[in-house]
Formats: sequence, C-alpha cells, structure tokens
Amino acid sequence: MFKSFLIKIKAIFDGLFTVFKHSFKKRVTLEYPEKRPNLSERFRGKHLWNSKKCLACKVCEKVCPANAIKIEKNDDNIKFNIDYSKCIFCGNCQYYCKTSAITMTKDFELATDNKADLNVEKASNNGDEANN
Ligand code: SF4
Ligand code: SF4
Repeated sequence: MFKSFLIKIKAIFDGLFTVFKHSFKKRVTLEYPEKRPNLSERFRGKHLWNSKKCLACKVCEKVCPANAIKIEKNDDNIKFNIDYSKCIFCGNCQYYCKTSAITMTKDFELATDNKADLNVEKASNNGDEANN
C-alpha cells in the first residue's frame, strides 16, 4: 500500500521534472502564420508549370504514382491539370520532365474547406507561362 503510494508520488515528480527540463530547451513549434518555417532546399511544395517549356509529352502524367496530373493538348493549347487532393509531393513529375517545365516551390499552403479548390488547371493560351 505504502509502496504504491511512493510509486505514484515518484511518477508525479518525474513528470514535473520533465516539464522543468524542457522549459529551458529551444522551442520546436512556431507561431504560424506570423512566423514562417525555414524550409529545406529540398522541400517539395506546390508546382510551378511553365507552359513555354512544356512539350505536352505527358511524361509527368505517366510517372505520377497518384494519377494526379493530366496534360491535354489540342492545336493551339496545352492544359496542365493537377489535383492536390491526390498528389503525394513525391517529386517524380519534376524529376522526369526533361525540359524543366515543372518545378516544385516551397509553397505548402493548400488548406481549404472546398475540395474543388485543390483541382488546379492552367492553360498555355491563358498566358499561364509560370503558374502554381
Ligand atoms: S510538364 Fe514536362 S513532362 Fe509534363 S508534358 Fe510538359 S514537358 Fe512533358
Ligand atoms: S509530385 Fe508526385 S504525386 Fe504529385 S503530381 Fe508530381 S508525380 Fe504526381
């Protein structure tokens, strides 16, 4: 009985000691969005599509494991469609695009309450030379 009481008291002090120790350590959280994180050079965020460089070869579409990209071409237009509700930000599309028409930016802010907003379409004849 007394032994279990001592174990409980020890557990409380262990917890308090852990909190005390961590109060002197550097914070790992940020007051986002007022403060912005320092993202790695290799961070993969939203895509930038350069319609002037795009050949409509559809390689990005084929290498996408999530089936998130669609490229459509007609006589005077190329359409680039990406569905961020499917994209897993693996970077395959950027890696395999031989003209570097796709680059991944550090923009990670995709939160929305409307799923349709995650489906983004750009077209070369809309002057979408470089768009997210
Ligand atoms: S973005 Fe790159 S890989 Fe995709 S269709 Fe255009 S040129 Fe091909
Ligand atoms: S980053 Fe990966 S999942 Fe997202 S569109 Fe590109 S290939 Fe597909």
